[in-house]
Amino acid sequence: MEYRKLPHGEEQLSVLGLGTSSIGAAGDKEIEATMGLALEAGINFFDMASADTAPFSAYGRAIAGMREKLYFQIHFGADYTSGKYGWTTNLDTIKRSIDWQLTALKTDYIDFGFLHCIDEESDLKLAVESGVLDYIQSLKDQGTVRHIALGSHTPRLANKVLDMKVIDLLMFSINPGYDYRGGSSVDLGSENYAVGGVDEHPTLYRRCEAERVGISVMKPFSGGQLLNDRTSPFGKALTEYQCMQYALDKPGVLAVIAGVRNRADLQKLLGYFSAAPEEKDYSILGTFAPQDAAGKCVYCNHCQPCPAGLDVGIINKYYDLARTGDQLARGHYAKLEKKAGDCVKCGHCDWRCPFHVPQSHRMEEIQDYFGS
Ligand code: SF4
Ligand code: SF4
Repeated sequence: MEYRKLPHGEEQLSVLGLGTSSIGAAGDKEIEATMGLALEAGINFFDMASADTAPFSAYGRAIAGMREKLYFQIHFGADYTSGKYGWTTNLDTIKRSIDWQLTALKTDYIDFGFLHCIDEESDLKLAVESGVLDYIQSLKDQGTVRHIALGSHTPRLANKVLDMKVIDLLMFSINPGYDYRGGSSVDLGSENYAVGGVDEHPTLYRRCEAERVGISVMKPFSGGQLLNDRTSPFGKALTEYQCMQYALDKPGVLAVIAGVRNRADLQKLLGYFSAAPEEKDYSILGTFAPQDAAGKCVYCNHCQPCPAGLDVGIINKYYDLARTGDQLARGHYAKLEKKAGDCVKCGHCDWRCPFHVPQSHRMEEIQDYFGS
């Protein structure tokens, strides 16, 4: 397992986290066994926006004696009074739901307390006016909530909450479908490419990285749509490993939270960690992506190997981040053994890049920006 550190905290989160939205139907025994397999594999990050109540008590039993090593995303707005997921903004209902969730999980604290599903201006207004944000904040002051977080599919709203400077983690839907085809899960299926332009999502990811707000990724496979030729918005299927690598390469991303139905699903995802680089290579996207995405480096490193030993993807990522004001990225670049100035202009990356990035020219630009 690989881990990434939460920038505003000490938590080392497994890059593969587990979602609970589709496991409820598996039954208690299978849920516990799946959780057991996850723990054995080193997964320590769990999202609890479940479709029903089943995972809570099963997880509570499976994690006995291990709580301190695990991290839970708990959603202030998910209500399980009926036994199934319901969305609420009523503060009393939220308080009762949080108490119930903690009891079922056999814990007395929350690693990430979420402002849940803030996609519209009105959602944010309600969360503030109904006192939900203040409630999460008060639990944080008491130590019951360790970090405040936000779940959103909409860059504009995510940016608004980032402006408030209260969150340490953003759960955001990241996959090539949403990045290139409509801007948010809500828009998927529209024929319009990327509401706000193909830069809207990358700009948000870079902002998160620059402001040290980690990202946990929801819907990495677009609810499975991307995994099938028929349902993929590109008309061509991608694999789970390509989607995971795509999300994990984005600035700010700490972990991909994938929903599984059972152990077999999880076993398949764990194969990512032993998969060959070619199995994770998502450069085929260069043939699907809209025209205005051409010429923009997505850090995929399909252009490797570079004969001069440059890590083209990472150099480009630090460059893009530094231009947003990220001083750490500047520092990271300074520590690279091979920098843009080491480029020998062989042109190998120019013709290998499926996104048509004129990389040898870009290396000159990067060298000019950072200096020698
Ligand atoms: S130049 Fe192209 S192939 Fe290389 S990392 Fe960037 S997008 Fe990928
Ligand atoms: S043009 Fe520069 S960065 Fe690209 S492969 Fe050649 S030496 Fe490496």
